[in-house]
Amino acid sequence: MTFKAVIGQEQTIEILRNLVDNDRLPHATLVHGPQGSGKLSLVLAAIQYLFCDDRKDGDACDVCTSCSKVSKLIHPDIHFTFPFISTKESKVSDQYLGDWRNAILTNPYMDVNDWLALIGAANKQGNITKDECLNIIKKLSLKAFQNKYKICVIWLPEYLGKEGNRLLKLIEEPPENTFFFLITENTQQILNTILSRCQVVKASPLSEEEIKNALIDNKEIASEKAAAISFIANGDYNQALALADNIENDNAALFLEWMRKVYKGNGVHMVSWVEKIAGIGRENQKYFIQYALHFLRELMVIKMTGSDKVRLNKDDYQIALKLTNIIEFAHIDQITKLLNEVGYAILRNANPKILFLDASIQMNAILKNKTKLAAV
Ligand SMILES: [Zn+2]
Repeated sequence: MTFKAVIGQEQTIEILRNLVDNDRLPHATLVHGPQGSGKLSLVLAAIQYLFCDDRKDGDACDVCTSCSKVSKLIHPDIHFTFPFISTKESKVSDQYLGDWRNAILTNPYMDVNDWLALIGAANKQGNITKDECLNIIKKLSLKAFQNKYKICVIWLPEYLGKEGNRLLKLIEEPPENTFFFLITENTQQILNTILSRCQVVKASPLSEEEIKNALIDNKEIASEKAAAISFIANGDYNQALALADNIENDNAALFLEWMRKVYKGNGVHMVSWVEKIAGIGRENQKYFIQYALHFLRELMVIKMTGSDKVRLNKDDYQIALKLTNIIEFAHIDQITKLLNEVGYAILRNANPKILFLDASIQMNAILKNKTKLAAV
């Protein structure tokens, strides 16, 4: 990965580029930033720049043999460590290396939940084990294959726990030309003894504009949809990608249908909608709720200002106009709270039919309250 391929993060790139240019790369660099900000991309780009045989204009050439190996994640002197689940056969991460490469080559912005789900450990606690630490020590004690540098990338060292102590000495005094890159989302869960040995480089959340442009350039998503997604994604490009994959589900129409049915309060119709939402699966339900919250905010803007300058595409804007007749200002707080509760229950694997039926009944009560108020 080149610096050019990293989304945003100009300042952090500048810092990493200077460290390499001036031969001042520290023994251990800790890249710290929120989920989906591109920390791993930054590290991969810095490593490729370090290894490149023909750097040009402050970036890796992306064509030399070194670049080719680094970008395919197959360079023998670059070692990766990440949270995983031990099996009977093996207690080190090497067993997942193929999955890891595929996952990162597909999406270097993935988060730990995506990763654990991918290796069939969705509801388990991943770890970086004692044996993994011993394996790192062993790997880094070997001579570099290509007589250049040896690199150890530790993705999410917060999963090391106290085993991190085993790596202290190595991180403090690594063999010559050996560099550690630690990538973390939560410095508070990392041993202080490790933190104090690292130079910290920060990555910021991506801006709406950066996410929007990346979606348009990389995923060929239309501008207004990209704008809506980037607003919901809240600086997290991985989240934006997941939302983009979900874009085919017509969440606004589904929300309109729900509001109409709960507003009329016909039990049979509400149940038929609940069957429909229950059938789309947990991930899609999660995005439906996120979209509904976003939609509600934009709907309020329309009600307050009458403006059509909102983050909704044309079809969804028309739907929002229709809903302005059903949803009043007085309901917004209650509906938002209800949707947040539903979103939280989905994450905790609640039964979707019970959950959405209950939410429909509560929503009906909220909207009914409006008619009473209006009648007073
Ligand atoms: Zn190169």
